[in-house]
Amino acid sequence: MRAIVRDDLASGRIAAPKTRFPPEPNGYLHIGHAKAICLDFGIAGEFGGSCNLRFDDTNPAREDPEYVAAIRDDVRWLGFQWQSLRHASDYFEVFYLAAEKLVRQGDAFVCDLSADEVRAYRGTLTEPGRNSPFRDRSVEENLDLLRRMRAGEFADGARTLRAKIDMGAGNINLRDPALYRIKHVEHQNTGNAWPIYPMYDFAHSLSDAIEGITHSLCTLEFEDHRPLYDWCVDKVDLAHAPELLAPLLARGLPNEAGKPRQIEFSRLNFNYTVMSKRKLLALVNDGLVDGWNDPRMPTLQGIRRRGYTPSALRLMVDRVGVSKQNSLLDISILEGALRDDLDAAAPRRMAVVDPVKLVLTNVPDDFEEALTFSNHPKDEGFGQREVPFARELWIERDDFAEVPPKGFKRLTTGGEVRLRGAGIVRCDAVVKDDAGRIVELQGTLDLDSRPGMEGANRKIKGTIHWVSARHGVAADIRLYDRLFTVPDPDSDEPRKSYVDFLNPDSIRVVRGYVEPAAAQAAAEQAFQFERVGYFVADRYDHRPDAPVFNRSVTLRDTWSGGAQP
Ligand code: ATP
Ligand code: MG
Repeated sequence: MRAIVRDDLASGRIAAPKTRFPPEPNGYLHIGHAKAICLDFGIAGEFGGSCNLRFDDTNPAREDPEYVAAIRDDVRWLGFQWQSLRHASDYFEVFYLAAEKLVRQGDAFVCDLSADEVRAYRGTLTEPGRNSPFRDRSVEENLDLLRRMRAGEFADGARTLRAKIDMGAGNINLRDPALYRIKHVEHQNTGNAWPIYPMYDFAHSLSDAIEGITHSLCTLEFEDHRPLYDWCVDKVDLAHAPELLAPLLARGLPNEAGKPRQIEFSRLNFNYTVMSKRKLLALVNDGLVDGWNDPRMPTLQGIRRRGYTPSALRLMVDRVGVSKQNSLLDISILEGALRDDLDAAAPRRMAVVDPVKLVLTNVPDDFEEALTFSNHPKDEGFGQREVPFARELWIERDDFAEVPPKGFKRLTTGGEVRLRGAGIVRCDAVVKDDAGRIVELQGTLDLDSRPGMEGANRKIKGTIHWVSARHGVAADIRLYDRLFTVPDPDSDEPRKSYVDFLNPDSIRVVRGYVEPAAAQAAAEQAFQFERVGYFVADRYDHRPDAPVFNRSVTLRDTWSGGAQP
C-alpha cells in the first residue's frame, strides 16, 4: 500500500494521499478496526496527507448515536485526528442526483421484481443470470418511477433502482445490482426526509469520490466489489458533473471530487475471542459480559478499560503487518505488544493480591520507616518514591510454603527470604485457625541485612514483594483472563456455539493490598505490580480511598504453560 502511494506521488497522480475510515455506526469498534484505523490514518500521515472519519450511515434501522459517540472517542484515543468528520447521509442529495444521472444515461432502471424474484433471476456462480423484464423501460418511465420512489409513493420493497450492467457477468456483484431500496424508516440524521436509501456499494464509492479520497483502503471481502465500485465512480464521474455537487456547495462543503482507488488488506482476527459485531452484541444482550466496555471484550472500549494503551495497539498493528491473506492470529501477539509497551512505560509498584500477614517480631510495634524505591529499574527518568515499612506486612500467600516443593526459593518455616528493598527475614512460626488455614506468619528481620547495613548484600536465593499492613490500602483487584477457553470459539466444534466455550474463570475479583503510591493513581494509570503483572486503575470505578485495579496482562505468557497465577 505504501509503494502504491509512493508511485502515485511520484507519477503526479496525486499531490498527497487522502484516506478515510468508514465505520458503520451499528456497534462498537473492536481490535480489528484498530488495524483499519492505523492504516487509514497512519499511511495518510506518513505521506503528508489526511484522513476523514466518515460514518457509513445508510442502514438507519441498525444504527445508533450511542455508537457514533463511542467511535469518535475511540479514534481520538488511538491518537488520530481526522481532517473532516462526515456522514454518508451528508451526501444523500448527491447520491440521488447521481441516480437520476445514471437513469438518464441509460445505466440504471427501476425494477419491480420482488426480492425473491431478483434472487431467482440472479443466477449462480456457474450459471449466468437472466435480464429483469423491467430492464428495458424507457428513460422517461424510469425517471418518473424513481422520482415517485423518492416521493414516497411506493411501499417498502415494492421496487428497486438497479444498475444496468451485465446479468451474464462472472462476478455476481455486476449482475444489475440494486443501487436504491425503498425503506420508510426514520434516519438519525435526516429524519423522515428519505423513503429510499442507497445501497452500500453505491453510497460507499460515491462518498469516497465526493471527498476526494485517493486511496480507499478496505478489507478483503470487498475485493469482489471493486469492479462495481469502479463502475459507480466512472459512470457518475463527479469530476465532470459539478451540478451533482451543488447541494454540498450550498451547505458550504468544498468541492474535492476525484477518482479514488480501492486497495484491500486482510482482516485482523485473534484466537480466544470473537470479533463480529453481531456476536459481541449478543454477548452484551445476553448478559454474558458486563456491557460493551467490559474489560474482557475485544472492543476498543473494553480493552482500553482492561489497560491496553494506544501505543501497544499501534505496535501490534506494525508487528502484524499488512497482507492479502486472512488468518487467525495468536492472541499472544496482542498481549506481547502490551507487555513490551508497559515494560517501558509503566512505573513499578508493590501490591499483594492474595495476602497473608507476616509479623516481624523483632521490630517494635510503633516502628515506621520510609524506604526509597526507584519507580523503574531501567529508566531513572521515572524518579523515586517512598514506600512505608513497618512491623506487620502483607505478603503473597503462595510466597510461603510449609512443605516447600523442590526448588522453592521463597519463604519456608526456618528459611530465609529477602523482602524487596527492606532486608532478609527468617520465618519462625506459623499461626493457623481452627480449620488449619494459615492466618499469620511470624519472623525475624535480620537487622544487619537492612539497606545501608554491612550485610545488605548477603546472598539469598529468593526475593518477595510486600506491603506494609498499616499503610497499605485495601483494593479490589480484578484478575481478568481470556473470555473463551478454546482458540477458535466459532468453529472448534461445529455442533456447539461460541457461547459454550466461555471461560468461567475469565474474571476473578480478589481483595488485595496496594502500597499508598499505587492507591493514589489517577484513573487509567498503568503500573507493573512487581512479580504480579501489569495492572491499570479502573477507568470508571477506581478511587484513591477505594482502589480498583484491573489486570491488563500477566508478566509472562502463562497460557501455553497451563494455569494462570
Ligand atoms: P463486523 O464485520 O465486525 O460487523 P464491519 O466490517 O461491518 O465489522 P465496519 O464498521 O463496516 O465494520 O468497518 C469499518 C472499517 O473497518 C471497514 O473499512 C472494515 O473493512 C474495517 N474492518 C472491520 N473489521 C476489521 C478487521 N477485523 N480487521 C481489519 N479491518 C476491519
Ligand atoms: Mg461493514
